[in-house]
Amino acid sequence: MTAARARTRYDLEREELGELLADEPRYRVDQVWRGLHERGVEPDEMTDLPRGLRARLGDVLPAALVPAAESRSDAGDTIKWLWTLADGTQVETVLMLYPERATVCVSSQAGCAMACGFCATGQAGFDRNLSTGEIVEQVVRARRRAAELGRRVSNVVFMGMGEPFANYDRTWSAVRRMHDDLGLSARHLTVSTVGIVPGIRRMATEALPVNLAVSLHAANDVLRDELVPINKRYPLAALAEACRGYLDAKHRRLSFEWALIDGTNDTLQDAAELAAYALSLRAHVNLIPLNPTPGYPAVGTPPAGVAAFARALRDRGVNTTVRRTRGTDIDAACGQLRAAHEVTSVTVAPPRRRP
Ligand code: SAH
Repeated sequence: MTAARARTRYDLEREELGELLADEPRYRVDQVWRGLHERGVEPDEMTDLPRGLRARLGDVLPAALVPAAESRSDAGDTIKWLWTLADGTQVETVLMLYPERATVCVSSQAGCAMACGFCATGQAGFDRNLSTGEIVEQVVRARRRAAELGRRVSNVVFMGMGEPFANYDRTWSAVRRMHDDLGLSARHLTVSTVGIVPGIRRMATEALPVNLAVSLHAANDVLRDELVPINKRYPLAALAEACRGYLDAKHRRLSFEWALIDGTNDTLQDAAELAAYALSLRAHVNLIPLNPTPGYPAVGTPPAGVAAFARALRDRGVNTTVRRTRGTDIDAACGQLRAAHEVTSVTVAPPRRRP
């Protein structure tokens, strides 16, 4: 385990801020809390505070994220940040502006231990869990940039680096903070998991009904064991049972993510297996052609194949969306985060072709 790191600005719960400001008038705590969360400003911008207090806050509540790089693509509608954390670790955040919504894609860990071969983060391995503050601050920063562009962040998806359920407590504190203090509604928060069954079960017991997304990618255990190694521990039957438990408890739409890998999981048989699995859970399917990554010798399904796969699902009555790849040119696309900033020497075996 890593040594304890200094707490950053958004790591403190409100009571802890109260303790920190015990020698100040009570209303100062509200002012600071609102400044941090509702306005998302730096301590030195909290002009309703005395100068001395602003300086003190700057010292005792350092920002977690230092910008290392920022890039824009899609005519400015996708913005990606690479942040350096206090210990030198790096993580990424992506802001996607759509006509009807603005979505922040946050990282929950630096790196990832789930080892999905097609994912750049998985290829690079695990560094450490992010703290609650390191997760929350990603949204605060993105929200501020969105505001500068005249936009309001409406949605947050945990689809950046890391596996949220491998960092459950901090992820969930961050979710609660986004809801309670940043004012995002639960139905606009989506936790995406590789399929950690105990995490899904636990989230079903939480009060906030957030959306659940599961990165499925294969609907038979032989192929899924290969594409998503954690499937060996939590196979499809157990995963379906946990998803059903979540649906029964929360009545939220379940969605499955499926990266279409050319010649690997894009046949009509794959579509039939996925349709059966998805229909049994009334799940929505999001298809996205695989984004090529340096360490994985496969490409995305070509457009005609994507369309045929989507049609096969829809013909069987599955709600299906084909997602447009965003940010490919700035390596902000799914599974590509951090790819351009690290030389990865990891090469995994090519996926087995189906007979
Ligand atoms: N660990 C979580 C969240 C992070 S990944 C999870 O597995 O859901 C976010 C999404 O991007 C997942 O659906 C993941 O499978 C997908 N993804 C990863 N690499 C990809 C790639 N190269 N092309 C397309 N999607 C990818």
